[in-house]
Amino acid sequence: MYGKFKEHLQNELLEIKNAGLFKEERIITSPQDAVIKVSSGEEVLNFCANNYLGLSNHPELIGAAKETMDNRGFGMSSVRFICGTQDIHKTLEKKIAEFFGTDDTILYAAAFDANGGVFEPLLTSEDAIISDSLNHASIIDGVRLCKAQRYRYNNADMEDLEQQLKAAQSQRFRIIVSDGVFSMDGNVAPVDKMLELANKYDAMVMIDECHSAGVVGKTGRGVTELFNVRGELDIITGTLGKAFGGAVGGFTTGRKEIIEMLRQRSRPYLFSNSLPPSVIGAGIRMFDMMSETTELQDRLHRNTDHFIKEMKSAGFDIKPTSSAICAVMLYDAKLSQEFAAKLLSEGIYVIGFYYPVVPKGEARIRVQLSAAHEARHLDKAIKAFKKVGKELGVI
Ligand SMILES: *Cc1c(COP(=O)(O)O)cnc(C)c1O
Repeated sequence: MYGKFKEHLQNELLEIKNAGLFKEERIITSPQDAVIKVSSGEEVLNFCANNYLGLSNHPELIGAAKETMDNRGFGMSSVRFICGTQDIHKTLEKKIAEFFGTDDTILYAAAFDANGGVFEPLLTSEDAIISDSLNHASIIDGVRLCKAQRYRYNNADMEDLEQQLKAAQSQRFRIIVSDGVFSMDGNVAPVDKMLELANKYDAMVMIDECHSAGVVGKTGRGVTELFNVRGELDIITGTLGKAFGGAVGGFTTGRKEIIEMLRQRSRPYLFSNSLPPSVIGAGIRMFDMMSETTELQDRLHRNTDHFIKEMKSAGFDIKPTSSAICAVMLYDAKLSQEFAAKLLSEGIYVIGFYYPVVPKGEARIRVQLSAAHEARHLDKAIKAFKKVGKELGVI
């Protein structure tokens, strides 16, 4: 039976390879950190992880994970509503709500599940979801699983959003949905204007804070801190897999009744395993650290500002950003790959992105800054960018 299907897959895989879109995985043989060891044996500086606060290999979190594993075991062997909820799961949910200034939180195995399971339990075909064109794949999938009417507006384009809100006035309920920070440009959704429009056109607002939580706002409280609108969003989704430690886990936090309904009806919550105690224990420690000090945010913001300033003064074309994502624009796809390869041989690990991940003719290198980067790491990266930039005639 498999023969014909095998041939079919082989052909499709070949097509992916021929189009230059085959994803190869680089093997890391050390913990995730500012400096990583790769399987060829070299050490490289890592500028392509979502390790914004440098917590992926933080001793405090490792310690908390070990301690919780000793006290509460390895796994839960259950979904939450059967026998998968420990007191620590409730504690972490409460801490996340305190962090964001929301009523309550529901944990998921991943943010992909949080977004996948948020719309269908809340909205029906009588309702409308109005979604940013650059929203994450998990939001797109979540919208697909829901019967609500779909509207799309151009990335962060508030005039277009207003048009879509007008078009959706005949629906019963409306919700505007957007990433907080868009991962390819690093721009922040204009949440203040979105809330104004939501008010005017009677809509709710949901923001996916995966790339913004822990990062934007003076103390890393995310977009509601940046725009001074704490408590005004109806739904926030986020991940424990980026700034918040980098292990695994997602959450939805927001209005009390919304979270209550998700606990009753959200399928990835009801039918998928509970997060393991070690991840929960480390998560609790992490949010405690966030409330004790803003040292990591301060360092991240300093690093980001410094890197961007130096890159701009070297003559690089940098996309406007309000996050820890810095898109170095090269426009040409081949150039972006050549540039990234040359940087790697200088010991700098970054990724060059090109169509279809970004629009045609907008190839770039995405640099992700981290609180784990030290001044000498940044200097080495900037120096390498300048060297390769000159070699390839970019600056
Ligand atoms: C990374 C990311 C997700 C998925 O997070 P996981 O917890 O890894 O599933 C969802 N939304 C956005 C915007 C992301 O960047």
